[in-house]
Amino acid sequence: SVMHIRTRAVHVGNEKDPATGAVVPPIHVASTFVQPAAGEWGEFDYARSGSPNRCALQSTIASLESGTHALAYATGMAATHGATMLLNAGDHIVAGSDIYGGTYRLLHKIVDRSGVRVSLSQTVDLDAFEAAFTDQTKLAWIESPGNPLMTITDIAACAEIAHKHGALLAVDNTFATPVLTRPLELGADIVMHSATKYLGGHSDALGGILVVSDRELYDELYFVQNATGAVMGTFSTFLIARGIKTLELRVREQSRSALFLAHQLSQHPSVSRVLYPGLESHPGHELATRQMDGAYGAMLSFELSGSYQDTQQVAQSTRLFQLAVSLGAVESLIEQPASMSHASYDAADRQRHGIVDGLIRLSVGLEHPDDLWEDLRQAIEAVAESC
Ligand code: PLP
Repeated sequence: SVMHIRTRAVHVGNEKDPATGAVVPPIHVASTFVQPAAGEWGEFDYARSGSPNRCALQSTIASLESGTHALAYATGMAATHGATMLLNAGDHIVAGSDIYGGTYRLLHKIVDRSGVRVSLSQTVDLDAFEAAFTDQTKLAWIESPGNPLMTITDIAACAEIAHKHGALLAVDNTFATPVLTRPLELGADIVMHSATKYLGGHSDALGGILVVSDRELYDELYFVQNATGAVMGTFSTFLIARGIKTLELRVREQSRSALFLAHQLSQHPSVSRVLYPGLESHPGHELATRQMDGAYGAMLSFELSGSYQDTQQVAQSTRLFQLAVSLGAVESLIEQPASMSHASYDAADRQRHGIVDGLIRLSVGLEHPDDLWEDLRQAIEAVAESC
């Protein structure tokens, strides 16, 4: 039988070093590898085309995501860009409206330069999602939970719709991680990660991942990656491989704290709205309970009943929650999507899709949840009192 994720996270890609018996694979820094003879190729030749550390990490993540092949990129954006380079001029992409601001920017301001058209659609309403497809649609790009509104999208239903229209479905699984959601099992064709986030988990390495379960699709993505060169660096590869060993423990514990904070926030008189799929009041709660494996993730957003200035004040006056973009690490972070993670959306698209200025997004870390709540509570109440 297939071993549990926690076990595979420790063992797959971490086989003992045959040369020394070391339980941790060595970091291979070589950029080139000696060949057996002219015109004969060994397992590795040039590190852009493949390297021992990247290969090992790719096998770990392919296993966690129930895929057959993975590719490791310099950043999450490089991974997303790699997937979009499968398309040709005249092709069309349908992207969910609740996605990372940088993905919006890449699709609307870079990918469109090569003649690929992009439409934004919400993905909670499946009829609206399907209506966005055209005969030219080759790729749909979604996130669940969405960023920053924590919308929950039915991945299996989206895969069915995409396939009916002859398109691939790609899922940015950065927020959920393979611990909580495995999109390939639900019919998606490509899973993408910003490995900078939960996979690495310590805010000390940049990386991106694509995972697939189809050899031909892997070969096409590999061809593009090798030809364009945005591969993950060796030291980042080492740090991300190290981070993955504790992925499940971190994600489960941080999700538990996020649920606690979501409950506390929703009972606070100065908070008007809490967006967290673990709350029964969340419109995606039932779907999340079915689609996510025993927890709802460690990201949440909320709005204050006060003014826009109050929102900024709160985001600037927590001490444990540090004011920074990014997410998914052991330290908790706080940010205002409208001016930070989603500043690259056009203002009109932000408004249309509900990314309001008063929204605050939290990445809940591994600190004690009581300390985190005390930090948030004092920041919220200090602002309420000063009014
Ligand atoms: N997808 C999501 C959900 C993200 O949060 C991010 C980064 O903030 C990215 C993609 C992009 O990843 P990277 O910053 O590693 O390029």
